[in-house]
Amino acid sequence: MQYQDIQGAALINGRHTNHQYKRYIVSGAYYYSFCFYCDYSNWSLIEPMFIEPMLEAASCSHDYQAMVSVGNVKWCKCTKCYKIIKSNFIVNSVSGGLEIAPLQEYSGTSLTIPVQIGGENIVSIGEHVFQGNTSLQQVVFPSNSQVTTIKSWAFHGCSSLTSMNIPSSVEEIGWAVFVGTPSEPFIDWHYNHNMNAYYDNTSNFGSHVKRIFISNSLTTATLPYGMKTLRENTLIGGDSITALIFPVTLTRIEDYAFANCPNLTQLSIPSTITYLSSRAFSSSSVSSIIWYYNEGISGFRSQFDQLVTEIVIEDDVNYIRGDTFEYLPNLVSFIVSPDNQYFSSVDGVLYNKNQTELLQVPMACQNVVMPNTITSFPSWAFNSHPRLEIVFLSLSVTSIPESAFASCSNLVEVYVMLDDGYTVVNCGVNAFNGTNQDLVIYVPERMHHAYYQDSSWQTYQNKLQPVY
Ligand SMILES: [Zn+2]
Ligand SMILES: [Zn+2]
Repeated sequence: MQYQDIQGAALINGRHTNHQYKRYIVSGAYYYSFCFYCDYSNWSLIEPMFIEPMLEAASCSHDYQAMVSVGNVKWCKCTKCYKIIKSNFIVNSVSGGLEIAPLQEYSGTSLTIPVQIGGENIVSIGEHVFQGNTSLQQVVFPSNSQVTTIKSWAFHGCSSLTSMNIPSSVEEIGWAVFVGTPSEPFIDWHYNHNMNAYYDNTSNFGSHVKRIFISNSLTTATLPYGMKTLRENTLIGGDSITALIFPVTLTRIEDYAFANCPNLTQLSIPSTITYLSSRAFSSSSVSSIIWYYNEGISGFRSQFDQLVTEIVIEDDVNYIRGDTFEYLPNLVSFIVSPDNQYFSSVDGVLYNKNQTELLQVPMACQNVVMPNTITSFPSWAFNSHPRLEIVFLSLSVTSIPESAFASCSNLVEVYVMLDDGYTVVNCGVNAFNGTNQDLVIYVPERMHHAYYQDSSWQTYQNKLQPVY
């Protein structure tokens, strides 16, 4: 189609009704004003009012507007220099380049977004561009795409869309962009940590992300809001990742989820995770898990239980079942939020809020200094803790339960420091059986004779030592 035909088409399509003179040219004493659509010119001897001189195309920062379209072919024209570009898209000039304008009538199944049109970068996918298009199945952005923005409703209601990539140049995704697209995740996201997340909960971007391609220089990655499941191949790349941040929408972690992150050794599992596969951490380098406690976590936890080293008790936890942490052999500490009304922690040990009850000593805990508000502790609290080395009993404890420290094979120092001048702390039967052969039990200096004479301490007399 020739340029003259475009003008004719503009007339036929009804886009051109009256002449629209946007620019003029000076020639001798004459001013020639040209119609934007048909190039009809009008001359006068006085300078036309309200319009400006035509610019040179080479020095013009173009302002393209749709001129005419025939089938899938569109002509856009600069309002300042009248430069024309022909492509399959209507474009508008925006800061930094061109924006693709609405294209609802597109009837193909696959579409590649060009990197440039007319020598200018495509930087934006406009509002409503493909809204309601039901034929479009695949959208491809070339890897060198310069698109930074996908505006609101761009793919809203594209009910057949099942394949799409978001290039790493994209930093902003607008409102409701993916609402009304198929529910199964279909987006390959080339991760950009600057991605504007303000709209994440309403764009439906995160819930449609299937795979995240992470460049090898990044050490942290924040998974998108809306994502629900981390699968075996959700994370692609990520060789340098040392920290992953999960959105609150993520609830499931499936087999081999971290297999592509060889530098990820420590992982925080938020309380929003409710399902863990038995092989969630297989083929990964994860060796330590900080678990934000959630009673409802399910799945086969054998692997997970081996890896948990810290448990964080958040503000809203009000109940912990007694045997919850029994099977966490590498648990070093509890960390309780200061705002929690029911629990507290000191040196990694779990207490009730006002520290009158000792609730749990982590299985891999080494040293414990019991707060002096504790008056007694359960017989199982320290029993068979293989890494326990040093324990300071509370100054208020008057009795050590039966088998209290039995089978704590590394226990070398226990401080029994109640010192009122007359009370000997009672030692339960077998309290220190199976402890380390170098165990020393320190007692107050002025009381130590009383301990030697006390029948409850008879078995452990040779381990008693006064503290001076
Ligand atoms: Zn005209
Ligand atoms: Zn121009």
